[in-house]
Amino acid sequence: MYDLVLQGNLVLPDHVIHHGYLAVGDGRICAIIDSAGPRPPSQQFIDARGCWVLPGGIDTHVHAYSSATDPEGYGPLTRSAAAGGLTTVFDMPYDASQPVTSAERVRQKAALVERDAFIDVGLYGTISKQGGVPRVREMVQAGVCAFKVSLFETDPNRFPRIPDDELVALLTETRDSGVVVAFHAEDDEIINPLVRSWHPRGADNPTAHCHSRPPLSETVAVLKALEMAHELRAAVHIVHCTLPRGFELVNRYRREGADVSAETCIHYLALSEDDMPRLRGFGKINPPLRSAAAREGLWNALFAGSVEFVTSDHVAWPRALKDKPNVFDNASGAPGVETLLPLLYSEAVATRGLPITRFAQLIAAGPARRFGLYPHKGALAPGSDADITVLDPQPTWTFRAADSLTTADWSPFDGMTLHGRVVKTLVRGRTVFDVERGGVVSAAPAGRLVTPQRTGNNAEK
Ligand SMILES: [Zn+2]
Repeated sequence: MYDLVLQGNLVLPDHVIHHGYLAVGDGRICAIIDSAGPRPPSQQFIDARGCWVLPGGIDTHVHAYSSATDPEGYGPLTRSAAAGGLTTVFDMPYDASQPVTSAERVRQKAALVERDAFIDVGLYGTISKQGGVPRVREMVQAGVCAFKVSLFETDPNRFPRIPDDELVALLTETRDSGVVVAFHAEDDEIINPLVRSWHPRGADNPTAHCHSRPPLSETVAVLKALEMAHELRAAVHIVHCTLPRGFELVNRYRREGADVSAETCIHYLALSEDDMPRLRGFGKINPPLRSAAAREGLWNALFAGSVEFVTSDHVAWPRALKDKPNVFDNASGAPGVETLLPLLYSEAVATRGLPITRFAQLIAAGPARRFGLYPHKGALAPGSDADITVLDPQPTWTFRAADSLTTADWSPFDGMTLHGRVVKTLVRGRTVFDVERGGVVSAAPAGRLVTPQRTGNNAEK
């Protein structure tokens, strides 16, 4: 007798079992059974025939505590994520109160996960501008999933640019532990003078934000991170890569044997700089939205298999920080945990014909593999956590930011027509979101801290 059996079109790592049975016990997947035999006995049965039964969505790039005045926190963020079919998010370390640069900060945030999160959460750590590397090992032992560093100075304390010598020290420290170091790849020295010269035109022309951060400012920074990975034999990941050229560079270094990867974000696939006159400050994101041609190039890279996964870069800035007349006076970033999976399904699978197994790789297996969670998470397989997203491919509907569960009452995707809808989200076998029962159904937060399985040496030392 299983705790739960779901019947539906089960999306396995390399094929689909139509009308198959997925059996769950103790929060894990126990068995995958085809529809030839009788339905396995269970306490609870979910009839998802006609729906895709997917491994739960994993978004390895969200910001829960960026705002000094109105931090969203794990409660609203993870409820919104569950409504969008996500079962795990990774929170970035750039908190307004204090960035995550010590084991003590990791433990403080782990306590917030246990207290407030409705889905599972992994934590990023980072280093301070100078002298932070000696604390890397204690953060690994405290359970960070990865480290994040920036080549662009967003804020000298919260989100600093890390000097090259500190980067070398960091990658030398992490190379044997298997811990991935993720880079925000934008070049400070190219961008800062351009921002100064475009700023006066930012009120009349919101696209000035895009002009102030041209493609070269991203690709030279990507190249620096890749060359460091190659030379120091460290694991490096490029976050929010906006350009097909960026993925080409990553592929070249990977062919040479470097341990490198890159993600793109859903907004670079769904929007372009042509949307800036309409979105104004609400479309201000770093790196910026690119040309329509670059967007099509990204789609080609995705269909060619160069894009390992797609993230949201979610941040729920209050409206007052995004509606200033001059585009440059607004905070950077946009909410997206609720739209990532449905929008990617709509654009990639329903509209452009991506195979559903590839979709599952982009949204679950890809990030889980890169950060050491696979196959514990990221796959419908016996022994894996029963993190499950049920998506009905039939409905066509309009996304309204006003209906979303994030604390932001706006979205760059507001009003978009989507094909397919998340109808249920289960985390370790428990239903967290159920559209038929009115939304988030978990009474209490039951999310857990996610920690990777590492094979390297440093994690044990
Ligand atoms: Zn980010």
